Amino acid sequence: MAGEWERYLRQQIELGGAEVVVSKAGRRGSGAVGQEDSRAAGQQGRNADESIVAATPPRGPAAPQPRWKQGCPPIPGPGLAVESPSHVLDDELVALGTLEDVAERIRTTHCCALCPNRTNAVPGEGNPQARLFLVGEGPGATEDAQGRPFVGQAGNLLNGILEAIEVPRDSVYITNIVKCRPPQNRKPLPDEIAACIPYLHRQIEIVQPKVILALGSTAAEAMLGVRRSLAELRGKVHTYNGIPLVVTYHPAALLRNPNWKKPTWDDVRIARQLLDR
Ligand code: URA
Repeated sequence: MAGEWERYLRQQIELGGAEVVVSKAGRRGSGAVGQEDSRAAGQQGRNADESIVAATPPRGPAAPQPRWKQGCPPIPGPGLAVESPSHVLDDELVALGTLEDVAERIRTTHCCALCPNRTNAVPGEGNPQARLFLVGEGPGATEDAQGRPFVGQAGNLLNGILEAIEVPRDSVYITNIVKCRPPQNRKPLPDEIAACIPYLHRQIEIVQPKVILALGSTAAEAMLGVRRSLAELRGKVHTYNGIPLVVTYHPAALLRNPNWKKPTWDDVRIARQLLDR
């Protein structure tokens, strides 16, 4: 009997569809979602021998993998672990209980030299219960005109990326490090970032996402509090207040250099797998 289940289990593992293994010790390995999981389950199955006492019954062929999972890189190891600095969240900011409260505060105050020149502040938008939280650099011309993040050319590309990993744009939350457009789309200056980033910290506290995706080096460095190249920051799972944070190229950079599309595709699929974990 055990042999039959073991055969079935192995078959499921080979198909990438192993489901539940319960050992005599009562440990439970569940849901083969990614390749890593099924490999781990395979190991468990091989080592378990007589310890396999139950598994879900055979249900026919495994469901086909979504396209984004095909050739998906494994989830990489840990990177930096950062906590948001508590001093940046003053009592006034903590008192803002909803994303709309934060947005209203951003729209009605000037916190740095960028604010007086804006057409519209761009606080961010999306699902208050988002599991994926995206952070860009700062609004461009189209965003400044509309008061919404990522609605220009880079936004169109970002929408395509989200669609490819089967994450609807309206399920995520999208914002930027600075909420007002820097002149000529230059990088925000350190004092502009320092003045604006408390809003981002509060937005993340409110949303409590499962995964954060930092788009580009400005977002990555500001969130992780380091000065490092994108190459150094990619390919790891950092944590921000315990939330997994993945770094990738900014969509605008992909418009300039299509060679970065492949590494970006890998990065976003790492973030996508973390959502399922
Ligand atoms: N680039 C960004 O970093 N943010 C936007 O909202 C648009 C373009």
